Amino acid sequence: MKILSVTSEIFPLIKTGGLADVTGSLPKALKNYGALIRTLVPGYPLLLSAVHDKQQIYYFPDLFGAPAQLLEGRHEGLDLLILDAPALYNRAGGPYVDQDGKDFADNWKRFAVLSYVASAIAGGLLPDWRPDLVHTHDWQTALTSVYMRHSTNANHVPSVLTIHNLAFQGQFPTSVVSQIGLPLETLSTDCLEYYGYVSYLKGGIQTATAITTVSPTYAREIVSTDLGMGLDGALSARPGALTGIVNGIDMDVWNPATDPYLPEKYDYRRMRLRATNRKHLLDAFRLDHAVGPIFATVSRLTWQKGGDMLAEVAEEIAMVGGKLIVLGKGDEDIEVSLLATAGRYPGRIGVRIGYDEATAHLIHGGADVIIQPSRFEPCGLTQLYALRYGCVPVVSRTGGLSETIIDANDAAISARVATGFQFHPATAENLRLAVRRALQAYSDPKKWARLQNQGMKANFSWERSAEQYAALYAKLLPGFAYAPVERANAAE
Ligand code: ADP
Repeated sequence: MKILSVTSEIFPLIKTGGLADVTGSLPKALKNYGALIRTLVPGYPLLLSAVHDKQQIYYFPDLFGAPAQLLEGRHEGLDLLILDAPALYNRAGGPYVDQDGKDFADNWKRFAVLSYVASAIAGGLLPDWRPDLVHTHDWQTALTSVYMRHSTNANHVPSVLTIHNLAFQGQFPTSVVSQIGLPLETLSTDCLEYYGYVSYLKGGIQTATAITTVSPTYAREIVSTDLGMGLDGALSARPGALTGIVNGIDMDVWNPATDPYLPEKYDYRRMRLRATNRKHLLDAFRLDHAVGPIFATVSRLTWQKGGDMLAEVAEEIAMVGGKLIVLGKGDEDIEVSLLATAGRYPGRIGVRIGYDEATAHLIHGGADVIIQPSRFEPCGLTQLYALRYGCVPVVSRTGGLSETIIDANDAAISARVATGFQFHPATAENLRLAVRRALQAYSDPKKWARLQNQGMKANFSWERSAEQYAALYAKLLPGFAYAPVERANAAE
């Protein structure tokens, strides 16, 4: 199966969150199931300079008003098609925002053009390679299937849209439609129109052949008014098309036994070695070395992630002899509040506003508890990394968090399956209670070691989930079969 994946970010080249982790690791996992993925990404400056040996495979003299080229290249096992459109992507800042953190004013165009090019490739733009199926991710590439539906090319291939977070929908004024090469009929309520605006994600939901989201629980939640973010109606209208497939993690990138960012590597048999990482971590955040658990968060500091709840509970953690480490950035009021509390508890609370891959790994390898108090969470990856690193998660019971962490209640503890602490509903008070439960468990070293051990044994590799994606592709592609490569070979 030849699959074109289309994404606005991909690890290790460009990342703002879990989307990049998934689009960067899924292709490797799918190879084992006979699905060969090429990934179309925007030619951001960082990405262009990181990928060597690129070759031009197509030239657009005038792509929506400016020249552009399509390059192919490989990077750490990824097979890339890069849309080098300097007028759209050659600028300072992140993939979506400028250096001051403001959305680029022409994001409507930057990602529409990416989607347009994806649809052209699906329609046979490249003489040597045409995909059997297109896989799009989030609003940034959701227009691909809208373009495909309205293209003159009658020979359509199926498409899969994966929703990594329904909160981001790509809403723009309706006037953009005439500027992105789509017919005005797409402005209807059964396509892009959304309460007087256009919604790129809604367009994808209406036109993709199949829709997935990143956990079965979130798939159920988003067809309700509570968590449907205004698109529950559109999603409910396609009941057979929507499924949930939980994310896996890249077991090579997130492996405490080989992690190059860890001063001391370890596995579940050599947990004592974690002490060295703990020391480095405390020094990195200028915290004292007194005994007591280290609670930590690596996250966007937003309302969704419960950053405000964390800020409310921070003081108590410090008062009861714990330490708190925060790595993240996001809403200014949450950042200010956390920094202010850290100022009152020097040596016990360390807050770093920013994004830093190396420190994220060190935190997982040295802290005792990861706190993730999300109000909603499509899947969540941080808690999966935490499990693998023996860092016990404290999470709200929502979306993917509810199905990847087993609460340490009495029954689960005696059955030796508990891996963390859940609370519900997501309020500061409930987080406070969950933190107290974690503190109590930490005071019993045997119980704590068992929790760590059970988490480290949990298997969140891509294997099972990749098989589910492969099965979905095969279902949409009559005539194609999928099978783990070893099994396929054995049958020959
Ligand atoms: P989301 O994609 O909603 O932000 P996920 O839990 O799915 O949340 O994925 C977040 C990813 O981004 C994880 O790989 C996490 O380690 C990483 N991350 C989040 N904030 C930071 C940060 N400040 N520094 C480094 N990595 C971060």
